[in-house]
Amino acid sequence: MSDKPRSFPLPLSSVVDKGARKAPVFAPVATPQTATQNAARHVPVPGQHRPAAVAMPSKSHGYAQERAQPVVSRDRPLVSDAIRHAMAQRVAKQGVRDQVVLNALATVPRHMFMDQGLVSQAYIDASLPIGHQQTISQPYIVARMIEVLRNGGQLKRVLEIGTGCGYQAAVLACVAHEVFSIERIKPLHELAKNNLRPLRVPNLRLHYGDGMLGLPQAAPFDGIILAAAGLQVPQPLLDQLAVGGRLVAPVGDRTQQLVLITRTGKAEWTSETLEDCHFVPLRAGTV
Ligand code: SAH
Repeated sequence: MSDKPRSFPLPLSSVVDKGARKAPVFAPVATPQTATQNAARHVPVPGQHRPAAVAMPSKSHGYAQERAQPVVSRDRPLVSDAIRHAMAQRVAKQGVRDQVVLNALATVPRHMFMDQGLVSQAYIDASLPIGHQQTISQPYIVARMIEVLRNGGQLKRVLEIGTGCGYQAAVLACVAHEVFSIERIKPLHELAKNNLRPLRVPNLRLHYGDGMLGLPQAAPFDGIILAAAGLQVPQPLLDQLAVGGRLVAPVGDRTQQLVLITRTGKAEWTSETLEDCHFVPLRAGTV
């Protein structure tokens, strides 16, 4: 596969409301929140009408003087390419250098993975609740993990543990030949399927099951990414990594660190600690 970012069959122009006025490109202020706190936040019940939450621009920002009118909904999103590009630029400023990953971030319509009431916050750099005490990952950490996984090269077969709403899987599908993603919570597996359907991502397969067991029928993988933190990386995942393959995972409990594991031989793995992070817990079994 070339390093050229893949674009979905569905042009972005067809998922944004062309008639709508362009939303101002501002840098909303994301308060530092942990994934766990965010996971516990209320998610409006689908179908129940609530006014859309509005991400307010910073007071120090010029736009604070203007009347912000981001009246957004999933059906009529006031979302422009510019807002997504601004998000990718912010992530670049935070240290992500891989342009292929940044392009993918600027391509995937994150608002289509969010609940109606949170759509207006889709492009802030924060993890947000998706129901079932889980969160959509923060754009920075999604980009960082995929950058580490790619290591400037090409990814063929990638496994993601923890599909959640499907956002990171969609970003991965922009940069890898084939992506497999496993989710243990049935309603979230269904939610991801519904979120991804309109985007028609042909190189992404969703599985319902316990990701701690991996996906032996599709192994070996040259990249494995965990979106939930365990006290250690499950051995089946290490075994399903191709020699030379890379696995990126949050490891820990209350304090967690992003860990990169590289398989260097048939029975050899090396491990490197990258940075602090905060993810929802990795759990065994299915619900
Ligand atoms: N990738 C998502 C993040 C989802 S949050 C995104 O794009 O934002 C992490 C997800 O991991 C949760 O949905 C949780 O249910 C799931 N998870 C936790 N343990 C798991 C396991 N053993 N197998 C599969 N999924 C798991």
